[in-house]
Amino acid sequence: MRPRRAAVFSLHTSPLEQPGTGDAGGMNVYIAQTSRRLAELGTEVEIFTRATSSDIPPIAELAPGVLVRNVVAGPFEGLDKNDLPSQLCAFAAGALRVEARHEPGHYDLVHSHYWLSGQAGWLARERWGVPLVHTAHTLAKVKNANLAEGDSPEPRVRVLGEEQIVDQADMLVANTEFEATDLIDRYDAEPDAVATIPPGVDLEVFTPGDGVAAREELGVAADALVLAFVGRIQPLKAPDVLLRAAAELLQRHPELRERLVVLVVGGPSGSGLERPRALQQLAVDLGIDDVVRFLPPRGGKRLAQVYRAADVVAVPSHNESFGLVALEAQACGTPVVAAAVGGLPVAVRDGVSGVLVDGHRTEQWAEALSSVALDRGLRHRLAGNAREHATTFSWTRTTESLLDAYEQAKLAFNRSLRTEEVTA
Ligand code: UDP
Repeated sequence: MRPRRAAVFSLHTSPLEQPGTGDAGGMNVYIAQTSRRLAELGTEVEIFTRATSSDIPPIAELAPGVLVRNVVAGPFEGLDKNDLPSQLCAFAAGALRVEARHEPGHYDLVHSHYWLSGQAGWLARERWGVPLVHTAHTLAKVKNANLAEGDSPEPRVRVLGEEQIVDQADMLVANTEFEATDLIDRYDAEPDAVATIPPGVDLEVFTPGDGVAAREELGVAADALVLAFVGRIQPLKAPDVLLRAAAELLQRHPELRERLVVLVVGGPSGSGLERPRALQQLAVDLGIDDVVRFLPPRGGKRLAQVYRAADVVAVPSHNESFGLVALEAQACGTPVVAAAVGGLPVAVRDGVSGVLVDGHRTEQWAEALSSVALDRGLRHRLAGNAREHATTFSWTRTTESLLDAYEQAKLAFNRSLRTEEVTA
């Protein structure tokens, strides 16, 4: 039985925000895309998020059958992500209050995203008597094991919070087998309680297209050699690796100076907010500020134009639970050079749709980027395979698998009730 109505918790960021800056990224895209499709498949969705402005109405419609509920929890603006645990009680109280206004059984299930929502979801599970499905998106223990130099580790409160959610959730959703293994090995999750469900990509927005027209739109010369980074600008995403590699590339091939363009699309995020102009300064320090162009975050068709304009998209992250940007670039027929971390080896087929780099050393990255960017034959071969690889992912498939996971969660929930009855 499919749930009639799901409560989706997304405490720290709203699916209505523009991804690519601050706390808005792949998770926002994931929630918006799967919620739309859940509604199309007959499950209404109500997304609970924290209100971040006094201007926004308490309820907004994201799509037919998908509501966003902006719960007042703490000050509207200026609340750092690190302070959000202090608002868990207020957020959970807001969500419980909404449910209490309806007939019992209004929600059939809670699906929480990221550990903060998982904590509130745990309470909702208990109060509403419904299964809890949780998607971590990132895990503190994994993040801490792959920190960028100088980046601060995730706090213990998050590790403890994640351990509790793993213990309480009826079903955990992992993006890849790698993440599933992390949940089992590092967090003691029961293997049966983990469903591996790859995320998708919007194959109608992210399509191959006229690269020259895309360059024209962006003011980039038709014969330029374009390397692009797309994403939130923070040490974990390592856009500095691309800049250093571009500087090295120019050392090796000074003749490229007139042609090389490095596009960096996105806004500061996480610990990158402490020094929002650090990357611009790095470009100056490396002597490549004339070839690097910083563009503010953009969505949909305008983002697709960036991917189409690029010869190569770089994803140099230190950690990435999946890496939607890699998939979107490939869907546009652009090869990806990515770090061989987290879920990126699933998102990119090494040597087929892109190149994986084991490490973050400048020479390695300069080598990998130039091997693709300067070899037209290889680039075309990878580009052709890139779209094909991307089409093996789709948000509809992701959503159908989520519905299966919801059914499994219901069965697990019922089992846990029986166990409680026996032990009571
Ligand atoms: N994104 C966007 N506009 C931008 C930069 C990024 O819409 O200017 C989106 C991008 O399309 C992708 C998401 O943000 O869907 C980033 O997801 P990813 O999994 O690559 O990284 P995350 O943000 O989850 O760490």
